[in-house]
Amino acid sequence: TSANDDLKALVRTIPDFPKPGIQFRDVTTLLLDGRGFGLAVERLAATVGEAPDLVAGVEARGFILGAALARELGCGLLLIRKDGKLPGATIAEDYALEYGTDRLAMHVDACSAGAKVLLADDLIATGGTALAAARLIRRAGGHVVGARFLIDLPDLGGAEALRAEGIDVASLIEFE
Ligand code: IMP
Repeated sequence: TSANDDLKALVRTIPDFPKPGIQFRDVTTLLLDGRGFGLAVERLAATVGEAPDLVAGVEARGFILGAALARELGCGLLLIRKDGKLPGATIAEDYALEYGTDRLAMHVDACSAGAKVLLADDLIATGGTALAAARLIRRAGGHVVGARFLIDLPDLGGAEALRAEGIDVASLIEFE
């Protein structure tokens, strides 16, 4: 048993979603549990030393965790969205999916030079999404001080790839 087994038990696993062979870790069941959602945010916030200037949430489930974490830490929220959704001037970064690529964007003026930014998402797998988000923040002049996830799939190497870039990574739950 480990410290966050109570939270792990609230994550539902859906086999064969979005395609055969994938075990999808569904955090909607954790979010439905008021106590679990609150504990998850508190425990993630407790892993953050000095409060950042901004928390950056990655669309879509990263918005939920990012917003809650930003409020808990008393800082602002920076939205990293799928390309084409933000109304102002944006910068964009492509990242590889298993088949093809996708593109994330952020408002070019969303963070001031040297702002300390903490990335947030529900889950890290290969790290492709988080690394693209980190590139955006750096291009905009921000400093990515860390990344926080509810769930890490360590076998896929994403957390390790972020750490190799000097980013402090923490998560609450691991699945093989
Ligand atoms: P990565 O880019 O390979 O690290 O994949 C992480 C991104 O895909 C995150 O934005 C997650 O929300 C999403 N994702 C991948 N696998 C799962 C899963 O099993 N459950 C929930 N989200 C997932």
